Amino acid sequence: MTHTDLLHASAPAPLERWLTAPRVRGLPGPSEAAAPPALSFEFFPPKTETLEAQFWACIRRLSPLRPRFVSVTYGAGGSTQARTHALVARLAAETTLPPAAHLTCVGATRAEVDEVARQYWAAGVRHIVALRGDMPGGGTYEPHPGGYAYAVDLVAGLRRIADFEISVAAYPEMHPAAVSLDADLDNLKRKLDAGATRAITQYFFDTETYLRFLDRALAAGITAPIVPGILPVTNFAQVARFSAACGTSVPPFLGRLFDGLDEDAETRRMVATVVAAEQVRLLQANGIDEFHFYTLNRPDLVYAIAHILGVRPSM
Ligand SMILES: Cc1cc2nc3c(=O)[nH]c(=O)nc-3n(C[C@H](O)[C@H](O)[C@H](O)COP(=O)(O)OP(=O)(O)OC[C@H]3O[C@@H](n4cnc5c(N)ncnc54)[C@H](O)[C@@H]3O)c2cc1C
Repeated sequence: MTHTDLLHASAPAPLERWLTAPRVRGLPGPSEAAAPPALSFEFFPPKTETLEAQFWACIRRLSPLRPRFVSVTYGAGGSTQARTHALVARLAAETTLPPAAHLTCVGATRAEVDEVARQYWAAGVRHIVALRGDMPGGGTYEPHPGGYAYAVDLVAGLRRIADFEISVAAYPEMHPAAVSLDADLDNLKRKLDAGATRAITQYFFDTETYLRFLDRALAAGITAPIVPGILPVTNFAQVARFSAACGTSVPPFLGRLFDGLDEDAETRRMVATVVAAEQVRLLQANGIDEFHFYTLNRPDLVYAIAHILGVRPSM
């Protein structure tokens, strides 16, 4: 008997291996009876004319999916205030999409933030995503003297200004600066009690973590929707870096899926679609029927994933 014979004698033959492997049942597809999920899309304010053209192209491509709202982020330290305002006001004036403006507490007094909110209301914007924000350039957060200190304070301030719909941020894996999971959940509850009607989560890759977070939220008395924030990953290196900073854990399998694809953008996009589609289908199979997509101003992947979820364009 040779060494190779010995190896073959101890290892089961392929068919035997396949037949004894654990069986995995497929995920159910969206049933005909179930209503398609409600979607929202998040964009960032573009910096150049070319990127602005890409932004509007993205809006045109995704609008037939009739999102519940489209939101535009606010740069760190309020650095994109003018651009965010101009885009959101134009969305309100020129499209039928309900726009939501992200607004942060950083680098501004209460009076200044209140004025921005009033301008939004005057421009017909009825939805604010109220956030604390981060220090420009990173570093430990310091409330602005005379400003709103935390998102909860901003929510209360907005309530005093007008009857805005208000969304806030939630962290299934805990905000990196929170002292504990419970303290962070308590903070979320206070934001909702102060008048927010929905939470949108930081992006995550582990469905179990998100579902456990929902369990804990309900046990803490939260009943408002905590909509999963979905980030389709096409640039793994960038997402790995960003995740380390924002406290999202990146499962090792994700790195393996993108291994060797640095120079192959097309395959990366296909892999990204499959990964995000699996994630949303698993969430959908667990009963989740609202999704918030971090589009990064790129429509195609999001469009495909929305289609897989059962959303169809209506003109
Ligand atoms: C959906 C979503 C959209 C976002 N959009 C933007 C954007 O457009 N622009 C931007 O700059 N950033 C954005 N961010 C990032 C966000 O600004 C940061 O994650 C920020 O660090 C926390 O914001 P928050 O609103 O969650 O803060 P908060 O809810 O205020 O909480 C921040 C931290 O402070 C703690 N905390 C709360 N109250 C107190 C207190 N009284 N004393 C001590 N600690 C307290 C909380 O537990 C938490 O750890 C977004 C995040 C998400 C999830």
